Amino acid sequence: MTMTKIETLLTQVGTQTDAKTGAINTPIYLSTAYRHEGLGQSTGFDYTRTKNPTRSVLEQEFAKLEGGDACCACSSGMAAIHLVLALFEAGDAIIYPDDLYGGTYRLATQYDKQYGITALFDPFDSIEAVEEKICLHHVKAIFIETPTNPLMKEISIEAYAKLAAKYAILLIVDNTFLTPYYQRPLELGAHIVIHSGTKYIGGHNDVLAGLVVSKGVELSERIFLQHNAIGMTLAPFDSWLLLRGLKTLHLRMKQHTINAKEIVAYLAQQPQIRDVMYAGRGGMVSFRLQSGTQVAPFLQQLKLIAFAESLGGVESFITYPTTQTHADIPQYIREARGVDDSLLRFSVGIEESEDIIADLQQVFNYLESEAIVHD
Ligand SMILES: *Cc1c(COP(=O)(O)O)cnc(C)c1O
Repeated sequence: MTMTKIETLLTQVGTQTDAKTGAINTPIYLSTAYRHEGLGQSTGFDYTRTKNPTRSVLEQEFAKLEGGDACCACSSGMAAIHLVLALFEAGDAIIYPDDLYGGTYRLATQYDKQYGITALFDPFDSIEAVEEKICLHHVKAIFIETPTNPLMKEISIEAYAKLAAKYAILLIVDNTFLTPYYQRPLELGAHIVIHSGTKYIGGHNDVLAGLVVSKGVELSERIFLQHNAIGMTLAPFDSWLLLRGLKTLHLRMKQHTINAKEIVAYLAQQPQIRDVMYAGRGGMVSFRLQSGTQVAPFLQQLKLIAFAESLGGVESFITYPTTQTHADIPQYIREARGVDDSLLRFSVGIEESEDIIADLQQVFNYLESEAIVHD
């Protein structure tokens, strides 16, 4: 029987893969080496950096979920991005959105300086402006995140897939924020999808991981060769943690969305909030306080919500991009792009939303009372 619904695929991720024992869950194979029956013979597994049975199940299942042909599981999201950048050579150029995860910005600019792979940045407000860059430079790929991080702007995957096809270049999408539950870029024409598996895929703030999914045999083979050659592969136990996390991805994403919508509605009515940014689905919300001076007391006063640097876990987190995720972007560039010192990024968890809102309310009450004291 073929399973067609993503909810079913997710729940059944990695089940009954071990015909020998009938184990429901995928076993964790820690062995790094595999015995050969004889010269030129192999079970399909030789050495764990190249291929590991637990990691292979994750890679096959995740490729299916994203609608791709192959997947390489990596030791972190940054390792996944590094793996993709390793496809390019000196003289190539890649176009990135201005509003981008800080770690990606750091790696892209480092590759530019160190290896001569030019990093071009664009606001992605107009296709024509991106097309002009393609015509002026030796552009080999467009690398986007949508919604963008942290300003939650949506970039049309279809539109840029068409542009990439016109110039026979790659469209790479970091799909960390929406996951295949909400968005499958390969089905919209992208060539490579990247994830920080540390976020929604793992889902529990207990595993660092990255995933690269590709479409097309030739491209997938090139990525696989680099994965093995560089060796940024995901450990067997961590592969198992992702398989386990995936089983509830749909339930978590639905609840993240329900909670995020309630929190956006609440925040929009708070006088202490200047503006709220939300892409309409998923758990990521950004907002600006009236002033940057409110940030320190705001973060200090949080009780249920953790002031911490990550996203996508079941627990609510608030991050301060200025000193955390986006600290490596020079201040003048960061501020020109809208990531100013009053901006906070909220990874809304799956707690009862009333409790999350109560935590925010006591923070706002505190800020208000302090202001009265100081007046
Ligand atoms: C966290 C993150 C990364 C980097 O992933 P790590 O697992 O922390 O290495 C890349 N892209 C986005 C959008 C992220 O949020």
